[in-house]
Amino acid sequence: MTSLAFLPPDPAVLSKRDMIVADLKDLIGKDCILSDPRELTPFETDGFIACRNLPLAVALPRSTEDVAALMKYCARYSVPVVPRGAGTSLSGGAIPQQDAVVVALTRMNRILEVDLPNRCARVQAGVTNLSISDAVGGDGFFYAPDPSSQLACTIGGNIGMNSGGAHCLKYGVTTNNLLGVRVVLFDGTVIELGGKALDAGGLDLIGLVCGSEGQLGIVTEATVRLLAKPEGARPVLFGFPSAEEATACVSDIIGAGVIPVAIEFMDKPAIEICEAFAKAGYPMDVDALLIVEVEGSETEMDAMLKSIIDIARRHGVKTVKESQSAMEAAAIWKGRKSAFGATGRIADYICMDGTVPLSELTNVLKGTYDICARYGLRVANVFHAGDGNMHPLILYNINDPEEAAKAEAAGNDILRLCVDHGGCLTGEHGVGVEKRDLMRHQYAEADLVQQMRTRDAFDPQWLMNPSKVFPLEGRQR
Ligand SMILES: Cc1cc2nc3c(=O)[nH]c(=O)nc-3n(C[C@H](O)[C@H](O)[C@H](O)COP(=O)(O)OP(=O)(O)OC[C@H]3O[C@@H](n4cnc5c(N)ncnc54)[C@H](O)[C@@H]3O)c2cc1C
Repeated sequence: MTSLAFLPPDPAVLSKRDMIVADLKDLIGKDCILSDPRELTPFETDGFIACRNLPLAVALPRSTEDVAALMKYCARYSVPVVPRGAGTSLSGGAIPQQDAVVVALTRMNRILEVDLPNRCARVQAGVTNLSISDAVGGDGFFYAPDPSSQLACTIGGNIGMNSGGAHCLKYGVTTNNLLGVRVVLFDGTVIELGGKALDAGGLDLIGLVCGSEGQLGIVTEATVRLLAKPEGARPVLFGFPSAEEATACVSDIIGAGVIPVAIEFMDKPAIEICEAFAKAGYPMDVDALLIVEVEGSETEMDAMLKSIIDIARRHGVKTVKESQSAMEAAAIWKGRKSAFGATGRIADYICMDGTVPLSELTNVLKGTYDICARYGLRVANVFHAGDGNMHPLILYNINDPEEAAKAEAAGNDILRLCVDHGGCLTGEHGVGVEKRDLMRHQYAEADLVQQMRTRDAFDPQWLMNPSKVFPLEGRQR
């Protein structure tokens, strides 16, 4: 993670800022530009609340044309631009820099087309993740990537971060479910990538845009894949005597070639926090919990579950509890999906997002406990175990600078540990401001330079979401 000191506003540039605000209002309308500091406050941070900074202005465009006009203007006057969806990023991806214009897509929230014969939907970037499944659920379809923030987060933000979720073990993350995008480049040029047909020729620019954290352009529309709902789905709780047995069980399940829809892990602190909040029916006499969801026909689910139970027994499973009704299944997922919010009730926290090969889960989890103990910090672990995507929630007091520094240092150590065990810095939350300096731990200079050259090709002035992703020293302007 990065120490985050922003420069105070320079009085000499204030009049230039006023001019920019007036011009932006002329461009897309007064009611689409916020500039009063009280209106700007909600945009000074995102889910990474340790860092904040007021933007120059916030633009709330209504169309791709509005976005193109904004970008053309900002390129001409070298004004940095920060694309934003719902601002739920946990890595500070949507936090503005000094004198940046935040372009928030939340007014572009229409589902433009549902095309069931082609199993896809075309949506504006500000549509929330869950609203796509809500719109097509009645017809027996759904949109698979399901971040726990899906009630609030937008498709544009999901594309920015290549977001995942509990059910991505089987269905893949955003990039695996994205067929096309309309993107406004830094100078206002609009490009269309992909569409309803599979696998266009040429370079995979959709793959490049997905996960580019708002640095290659602003996505204004997306065509996403729709999947048919399974015949049935059953989440099952597996309680283990230790975290080590639970994580070892995960790699044995996947290693046996059994791929359920989801395998989520919770350690004891996480079980207690989530159960107190959601009354999900989690067993309280175990040290670790796996939520394993199987789906298909009753026969398919029974067969898969039998294999999983056999493997779990070899790891001393204490409790196996199958959900008996839709209500029980919903309660199990409510507990898991509200884990971050429930943790926020008891303490401030930073959520790490390292990913490791499954065979390293046990070692890295043990290392995580050791690191937090060394710093004298509490930690709760709740994560997408089937993907090896770990989310230690390091608890601290944001008003205690010493403890906040310790939390940051512990987070850095955990991410380095993930990389040292063959993993990477981020599974789904992106690099943002949080992990930009750790990129040097993951990548050799030549790897980073090649990534920065690619960025150069899209945004030669580095105006798009600056000071994110890449280490501050080096080529970043
Ligand atoms: C409680 C909670 C639970 C979460 N659970 C998960 C989870 O399970 N899985 C997961 O992956 N993430 C999770 N997250 C993180 C976060 O919700 C995701 O990163 C999400 O995709 C961000 O969407 P957003 O609309 O809030 O985007 P923002 O936070 O506004 O922006 C995220 C990034 O995308 C860029 N961006 C936004 N819109 C656009 C656009 N239209 N064009 C180009 N770039 C754009 C921004 O510049 C920024 O870099 C969680 C967050 C919270 C607070």
